[in-house]
Amino acid sequence: MEQAFLKYLAAQKQTISPDSIGIGDDAAVLSWQADQKLVVCTDLISDETDFHLAEVTPQQIGRKALAINLSDIAAMACEPVGAFLTLLLPQGAPSLELAKQIYEGAAQLGATFNCPILGGDTNSWPGKLAVSVTVLGRCPRDKPLLREGAQPGDAIYVTGSLGGSILGGHIDFQPRISEAIRLREICGLTAGMDISDGISIDLPRLCEQSRVGAEIDARLLPISDAAKQMSQSTGRPPWWHALNDGEDFELLFTVPGAEAAHLEAQWTDSTPVTKIGTIQSGTKLFLLDETGQRQPLKPEGFSHQ
Ligand SMILES: [Mg+2]
Repeated sequence: MEQAFLKYLAAQKQTISPDSIGIGDDAAVLSWQADQKLVVCTDLISDETDFHLAEVTPQQIGRKALAINLSDIAAMACEPVGAFLTLLLPQGAPSLELAKQIYEGAAQLGATFNCPILGGDTNSWPGKLAVSVTVLGRCPRDKPLLREGAQPGDAIYVTGSLGGSILGGHIDFQPRISEAIRLREICGLTAGMDISDGISIDLPRLCEQSRVGAEIDARLLPISDAAKQMSQSTGRPPWWHALNDGEDFELLFTVPGAEAAHLEAQWTDSTPVTKIGTIQSGTKLFLLDETGQRQPLKPEGFSHQ
């Protein structure tokens, strides 16, 4: 099966820069400028934990496996160069067809972000489907955007709208690569990350790396339609879902307070950016609830085991 899949892969038309070698030899070959930083991330998703094979298409699984990595590249304000896709397929399933469809989903998304699939591996086992993607990226600046660097007084922003990704957003979200790069062109981002587990878990991670505290305001959170829909079935307020639901894959970033107005005046992108709070000195995190009451921010988002 592996040879048949490799043959299929070699026949696929992907846009690869002419000085690079993708699938077909023993390893991929890429040109790299001597002074350019190489940024690498990898993520593994598996059936029943990150998706349900019975409920989504194999193409959607391949897309998601790449998209979560592209979101991490976006979080560093970097650009992808290429990806490696590794499949652990359930024995007995029609493996070649499944592998091709997973590849198709990843390759289609990759094409829209100049991120060809440059290689990978396949194997089968008596367990469930697992898909691992590794992405290589380059940084258009001297330094990638890190979680450390936020300063007291910085404004805290998010892209897009938040909450309720379980209703479908966790499968078809758009990695915010161009947004991150444009944001950095407009103003001096001090720190950033992507929201994978929910703000109430991810913001403390950024604050810990930056050694700062924060206060966010539930009334400022950009609430998605899906969060409102979730609220109707859970009885929790929509802002709770915007604050705690995971897998939004939006950007969470900080901007010096004095540059916030400039950013908002200059930002014309179709993806909104919304100020949700302020970085503070100390290490404590607070939430102003819907009535303006200040309380400790409790991590109630999704945590990986
Ligand atoms: Mg991340």
